[in-house]
Amino acid sequence: MSIIGSNLQVVRARIDAAARAADRDPGDIALLAVSKTFTQDAVRAAYEAGQREFGENYVQEAIGKIASLSDLPLVWHFIGPIQSNKTRAIAENFDWVHSVEREKIALRLAESRSAERDPLNICLQVNVSGEASKSGVAPEGVRALAEAVRALPRLRLRGLMAIPEPSGDIALQRLRCAGLRQLLAQLNEEDFGLDTLSMGMSQDLESAVTEGATIVRIGTAIFGERKRA
Ligand SMILES: *Cc1c(COP(=O)(O)O)cnc(C)c1O
Repeated sequence: MSIIGSNLQVVRARIDAAARAADRDPGDIALLAVSKTFTQDAVRAAYEAGQREFGENYVQEAIGKIASLSDLPLVWHFIGPIQSNKTRAIAENFDWVHSVEREKIALRLAESRSAERDPLNICLQVNVSGEASKSGVAPEGVRALAEAVRALPRLRLRGLMAIPEPSGDIALQRLRCAGLRQLLAQLNEEDFGLDTLSMGMSQDLESAVTEGATIVRIGTAIFGERKRA
């Protein structure tokens, strides 16, 4: 088996172990393989090992990769910062967008999503780290943004996403993930019907699963260290 294939087995085992320890069904946690900066061959190796869902951060890079992999039945998630001049390309090429933090961006995605395709699945990116992070809507702004996105056609609001500040401190990792879980619970008390908590990366996967992640986004632990651009 390829290195990527055996890395995937290790990551799936980590998810299973964390889920069981938290009394959760491992089947409720989807693994998103973050393939940014890696080649289409790396994606193919992951596909051979059973992986179907992939995450990308850079629109230009992603579009080439998605086109050259169109022979495979893959699901593509956009997880990077969104510039307004890239919304059309994102709406045309992806199935999910995890990183919506402004209404204007959501509006542009809705306008560009073809009526022939399924609605674009949306998560709102939330800043759960306060001053330690700049990206994401502030927790106080989540409800208003959720209202706005829910009202748009061609989009399907699925849940919340966070990228907490990197930390090896398990208690801090869990605190951040719990913050996102509580925000989702508040929205669902108001019948938003959201089913997705996108949190957990290579370093904090276990904390995220413990706190209720339904999608973990794993790059390094599957594909290896990224070269710096
Ligand atoms: C790069 C990236 C990941 C994967 O991070 P690793 O630490 O390599 O697992 C997950 N989510 C987002 C938003 C990313 O940009």
